[in-house]
Amino acid sequence: MTAPTEGGRSARTEADGKYGAYGGQYVPEALMPAIEELTDAYERYVLDNEEGFIDEFRRRLADFGGRPTPLQRADQLSARYDREVYLKREDLLHGGAHKLNNALGQVLLAQYMGKDRIIAETGAGQHGTATAMAAAHLDMPCEIYMGETDIARQRPNVFRIRTNGAEVVPVTTGRGTLKEAISETMRDWAGTVENTHYVIGSIVGPHPFPALVRTFQSVISEEARRQARDRIGRLPDSVVACAGGGSNTMGAFDAFRDDDVALYAVEAGGSSLGVDQDRGVAPNSASLSTGTEGVLHGARTKLLQDGDGQIVESHSVSAGLDYAGVGPELAHLVDRGQVEPVAVDDDDALEAFHRLSQAEGIIPALETAHAFGYLETVSEGQADGLGEVVLVNVSGRGDKDLETVLEETADRELSVAPNMDVLRRAGGLGGGQADAADQGE
Ligand SMILES: *Cc1c(COP(=O)(O)O)cnc(C)c1O
Repeated sequence: MTAPTEGGRSARTEADGKYGAYGGQYVPEALMPAIEELTDAYERYVLDNEEGFIDEFRRRLADFGGRPTPLQRADQLSARYDREVYLKREDLLHGGAHKLNNALGQVLLAQYMGKDRIIAETGAGQHGTATAMAAAHLDMPCEIYMGETDIARQRPNVFRIRTNGAEVVPVTTGRGTLKEAISETMRDWAGTVENTHYVIGSIVGPHPFPALVRTFQSVISEEARRQARDRIGRLPDSVVACAGGGSNTMGAFDAFRDDDVALYAVEAGGSSLGVDQDRGVAPNSASLSTGTEGVLHGARTKLLQDGDGQIVESHSVSAGLDYAGVGPELAHLVDRGQVEPVAVDDDDALEAFHRLSQAEGIIPALETAHAFGYLETVSEGQADGLGEVVLVNVSGRGDKDLETVLEETADRELSVAPNMDVLRRAGGLGGGQADAADQGE
C-alpha cells in the first residue's frame, strides 16, 4: 500500500519484476496469460486504487482483521537487554499471524478481477487457514493444496481449513510437502485461470507475486513507523523479523527502507548451517545466509541446492520457516547490504519461545521465536548493530506450536523451559514427553 499513500506507482516495483539478478517470470507458456492478467490487476487495483480497491482492503483489514495491531513496549525484555524493545503485535491480527494481510488482499483482488474460485497451497497450514478464512469472509469457494505428509503432521490446521468451509486437496507427489503443493497449485491454475485466482503464501513465485504480497504486508511497517513516531517520538534503530519466504520480513521492513534503520532478517539455522552434499539435505532453511542462485517456483533467487542444482531437503523446528527458497526482493536487499541476514538455530529458538512466554506473557509462534533468539545472541556479547531502540515483529502467536514445543523440549537441555511435573503426575504426559518434565528449571 506504499504507492497510493505516497503518490503514484512505487518506483520499487520494477515493471519486469527483476530485483537485480533475482525475480522474473520463469513459468511455462500456459501460465503466462494468468501472470499477465494478474500483473494488470495489481497495477490497476493495488497500485492505482482503481474502483477504491485499497480503501475497501483497509476497511476490511480493520473490521474483519482487527487492524491496527498494537505497538507494545516489552518491559521485561527492555530491562534484560538494556535497551528499548518494542513489539509489533501481528500475533493479534485475526487468525493469529500476519498471513491474513496477504490472504485477504489477494482474495479481495480476485473478486475485483471477476474470479469465482480461490486456490492456494499450504505447508504448515497457516497460509491455508488464512486463505480459507478470507474466502469464507468474502463468500468465495476455496481449495487448498497440501502435501499428504503435511496433512498428517498438521491435523489441527487441516481441520481449521475444513471448518471454514474450504476443501483440502492432498498432494502425493515427491515428499508430499510444500514444494510439491506449490507445483501442483500452479498446474491447477494454468488450466483454470479464467475463473480462478491462486493466492500465493509469501513473497515468492513469479512477478507480480513478490511485489503484490509485499505491498499487502507493508501495512505492518507503515503502521509501526507511524506508531513509533507517535509513541516514542522517533524511529527505531533496528527492525528484527524472522524470514521463511520473507513476507512478514519485507512487510516489517518496507516503510523503513529509506530511513537510517538497520534491518535484520532472522533465518532458521536448524541444527547446523550449510548443505550436506553427501546426503543432499540442509539441516536448516537459511537460504539468505547460505543459499546459491537458482530458479524455483517461477523466480530466480537464493536457494538451498546441491552441486548439481537439485533443491535439497531443508529443516527447521518451525514448519513455517522450512522452505528451500526465499523471496527474490529480500535476496537482492541482502546482496546490496541493505538487509543483514542472521541465523538462529533450533535450540536458541526454543529457548526464546519459553523466554518470551515467561517474561512478557506472549506465547510466540516458533517462527517468531527465531527473531527473539537473535536478541539473546546479541546480548551474549556478539556483534551488536541493534542500537538503543529495537522493533521486533511478532509475526504470529504460538498456540499452533504447543504440541511441537512440548515434544521438542523433551529432547533437549533447555535452561528456560518450564518444569512439567504437574502434568506428569496427573498422567498427562506420555513416555517420551515425561522426560521433558525432568529437565525443566
Ligand atoms: C508463515 C509464517 C512465517 C514465515 O513466512 P514469511 O513469509 O517468511 O513471513 C513467519 N511467522 C509466522 C507466524 C508464520 O505463520
